[in-house]
Amino acid sequence: MDPPPLADAPFDDQSADTVLRSTTSNVDFLVNRHLLAFSSLFFQTMFSLPQGNVEQEMRDHRPIIRVEEDRETLGMLLGYCYPKWLVGDRLVPSDTIGILKVHHAAQKYLMDGVEHRVRQDLVSKRMLAEEPLRIFAVAVQHGYLEEARIAARETLRLPVGSSEYVPELEDITGGDHYRLLLYHKLCGERAEDVVKDFCWVTNESFVWFECAECRRNPAANAPVRWIISGRRPKWVFSRWFLEYMDWVIKALTERPSGTVATDMELFDATMANASLCRTCFQGGRALKDFREFTSALAREVDRATSEVGIEIRSRA
Ligand SMILES: [Zn+2]
Repeated sequence: MDPPPLADAPFDDQSADTVLRSTTSNVDFLVNRHLLAFSSLFFQTMFSLPQGNVEQEMRDHRPIIRVEEDRETLGMLLGYCYPKWLVGDRLVPSDTIGILKVHHAAQKYLMDGVEHRVRQDLVSKRMLAEEPLRIFAVAVQHGYLEEARIAARETLRLPVGSSEYVPELEDITGGDHYRLLLYHKLCGERAEDVVKDFCWVTNESFVWFECAECRRNPAANAPVRWIISGRRPKWVFSRWFLEYMDWVIKALTERPSGTVATDMELFDATMANASLCRTCFQGGRALKDFREFTSALAREVDRATSEVGIEIRSRA
């Protein structure tokens, strides 16, 4: 029977002295055992053991070590062990599942240096943008306190309290999950303060305070009184803007993150509503004012929630 195909460069290098065979993907990685031993206490120990009488499986005079990791995981794991100039960026995990598999393998093969770098990559912008709750659970499970805090903050844009489930929640305790929910609740309260007390609003000439047409047509919504910075009272007349506020207040309780205020879909829907008032929409005023307001609201929500801490219990 033919041997499995070789992996892509640099793992097809004929000067390599060892074969790592992925049994799940049926592919051989030609590797340098010194590099492997240098990165992994597991392989270092394996290579230092005296060879027994068991006949060693070979490929072209190179001993074969069978491993369970699939082709992608093994490639990425070795990508962390090999010098960057050799492997480039193409072996960097691109999604949460990928990086979690590499993390698992790094732990299994006692690769402390790799684990350290994976830890940093776990909380990279790209990973957090994808599935922060999974990263939070993994960080808590392994006692990565700082990473857990960073990921917890990112989970604020998810409705963690009501509907979010990820398999990694099975690996943390009820106490850990309770503390995350408590953190969400406290952040939700801070966000609520921001949309109740408008002392952070400095611009008193927003179109919803001034539009004569909206003032004449309050429709179902009566105007709402705000107290803005400098204790200045202002009436909000525009129905489209009040509808946005109703929505954002509800959403922030469940997802207390600035990204909720600047959500693109909501932005477009609100502008479609605003376009019904010609005066508001004239000269792009609604657009400009609304953009300014939502950015300020997002900033303010994030500032308020940044003062809330989450307790992460160390596993040690
Ligand atoms: Zn108007």
